Amino acid sequence: MNAHDSEKVIGTLVQQGYDKVENEEDADLILYNTCSIRDKAEQKVFNRLNDYKRLHRQGKRFGVLGCVAQQEGEKIFERAPYVSLVSGSASYNKLPEMLVQLEAGNTRITGLDDRQTEETFETEFTARSNPHRGYITIIEGCDKFCAYCVVPYTRGKERSRTSTSVLAEARRMADQGYTEIQLLGQNVNSYRDQEGKRSFAELLAAVGEIPGIRRVRFTTSHPRDFTQDIVQAIDAVPSLCDHVHLPVQSGSSRVLHLMQREYTREWYLERIAWIKAARRPISMTTDIIVGFPGETPEDFEQTIDMLADVQYDGVFAFKYSPRPNTPAVTMADSIPEEEKSQRLQILLDRQRELQRVNYAKHVGEEVEVMVEGYNSARGQVNGRTSQNKTLNFTTRSTILPAIGSYLKVKVTQSFPNSLVGEAMGL
Ligand code: SAH
Ligand code: SF4
Repeated sequence: MNAHDSEKVIGTLVQQGYDKVENEEDADLILYNTCSIRDKAEQKVFNRLNDYKRLHRQGKRFGVLGCVAQQEGEKIFERAPYVSLVSGSASYNKLPEMLVQLEAGNTRITGLDDRQTEETFETEFTARSNPHRGYITIIEGCDKFCAYCVVPYTRGKERSRTSTSVLAEARRMADQGYTEIQLLGQNVNSYRDQEGKRSFAELLAAVGEIPGIRRVRFTTSHPRDFTQDIVQAIDAVPSLCDHVHLPVQSGSSRVLHLMQREYTREWYLERIAWIKAARRPISMTTDIIVGFPGETPEDFEQTIDMLADVQYDGVFAFKYSPRPNTPAVTMADSIPEEEKSQRLQILLDRQRELQRVNYAKHVGEEVEVMVEGYNSARGQVNGRTSQNKTLNFTTRSTILPAIGSYLKVKVTQSFPNSLVGEAMGL
């Protein structure tokens, strides 16, 4: 999401007449986009800004964007006086104006809209870095307030775009030659069409039916808002990829309650059962937090059990990281760092074993990949399947397939995180 925000900021500013340069030395203004979801993000940002002191002496100016900017606000000017602009993502619409102020010599410019902002950052001038596959933000912000998470404080309240505007953007992309679109939102399936025309599942299907669009992905889905019609849409529209990312966070209903996720293990597993009942096999991935305050060894065991119950194809697992201003910071029974690391390792090892078995099931299958790149050292082409799995394959032809093209590949070998194959008919 941050990478896509940067694409939109760059596109908007280039449209205003600014030039994008490839390295800091050539820039007059450096905008540094930041994330604060985990770790001591603010510390990392200040360390990095320290390196910019040298560049400041050469007359360059600096802006800090993103969640650390929103979270730290004007404190950034105190700690890094050479920064002239601080803006959270809910104020990016105003960046062109802010840069006019900057050019007029102002040195303490802020865009720190409060949570109540209704603005969404829509622009026709997104500078997408990949010409085949691109993101579209359909909903911004979050109203869920999980006990550990900064997003509701840094990205503002939940606000959706109109489906008319989303579809217009998707059609423009199809006209420009994009074949894969990924719809984005902190909780993408909490989407509520501002015009009330389409549900999330209907919007998904409508994007998938645009001529020229061959693949549609969406991330991240929240279990609370995961409805059965999403699975029905995937079944009905072949271009909707057979992959759902559905963060569970914990396998223990007790911990889920402490996390304020507002669902139980059983509720989550019911949604998984819908996905498993689809006509075509849908790959599932998830996010998990280990070591949330109060997580007992028994709770953790339930998370481990969840891995086998669901049979995920990928898990993004994180050690709980206390974040400023969130309710979890003050919770009792924090887990020592060493214990968190151990739990993380146990979970990753277990998941690797499950993936080893599950990825091996693809051997012998014929699958379609979108070509992403080449590994000349290994003589392989890299592609991605509809299920979002990496497939490295060889071709008999000496002419390499074009990046962005689609090919049929026979899977010949597997690893826990990737597949190996041979292109068919090439
Ligand atoms: N809206 C999505 C997740 C967005 S944040 C959802 O609710 O599922 C991406 C992931 O970062 C989360 O799924 C969670 O696993 C992780 N995360 C968020 N805050 C965290 C924290 N304080 N410590 C560790 N991981 C965190
Ligand atoms: Fe954070 Fe996701 Fe919870 Fe929102 S729903 S507070 S983004 S973890």
